[in-house]
Amino acid sequence: DPRLKAISDAITVVPHFPKPGIMFQDITTLVSNHKVFKHTVEIFVDRYRDMDISVVAGVEARGFMFAPSIALGIGAKFIPLRKPGKLPGEVISEAYELEYGKDRLEMHVGAVKPGERALVIDDLVATGGTLSAAIRLLGELPNLCLRLHIVYDLLLQTYCGYCDSGWLERNGAEVVECACVIGLPELKERRLLNGKPLYVLVEPR
Ligand code: 5GP
Repeated sequence: DPRLKAISDAITVVPHFPKPGIMFQDITTLVSNHKVFKHTVEIFVDRYRDMDISVVAGVEARGFMFAPSIALGIGAKFIPLRKPGKLPGEVISEAYELEYGKDRLEMHVGAVKPGERALVIDDLVATGGTLSAAIRLLGELPNLCLRLHIVYDLLLQTYCGYCDSGWLERNGAEVVECACVIGLPELKERRLLNGKPLYVLVEPR
């Protein structure tokens, strides 16, 4: 697909940002190029339009640059997965590991209904930690954790240390796939994340 080369070429590599040694993949030059931005959204829309997806969840902040357009294109709702303290309503949250320290993603309670089919969008996947947290947040937990939740919540009325949330609060959407513009070749080949398919357009430059 010749569009993929144009997409890769439109990404700018910024050495030593935000700290020494990091080759930052800057997508602002992709989204400011109307033709290439359109190609990017079209590829995702073509892939997902007939997959009965009703939710497109975008990961703050750069996932927000793609997810709403994809949601409009496939006729689904957009929901933001935000950094802590940004959403005004009642939230559930999910912690994940960063290279140094931890971060969290939050989602409004009731933003998705049980059984809804969801797509998760971010700009870039590196370790997969962020997308894995998004998958857990949307409501699907690993089997072992689900069993622990049932025991914890129903018998002990407490919280799970693994995902810091109660089973009864879970929304239970079905994550169909995660998709990013950029992904490391290892992840691209693995194509699975927490047991969920991962779809990536290009490798880092
Ligand atoms: P992961 O959790 O997979 O290790 O990291 C993915 C997250 O880090 C994404 O939310 C992405 O926005 C951000 N990220 C890390 N490095 C880069 C980069 O070089 N360019 C961009 N655009 N995002 C990055």
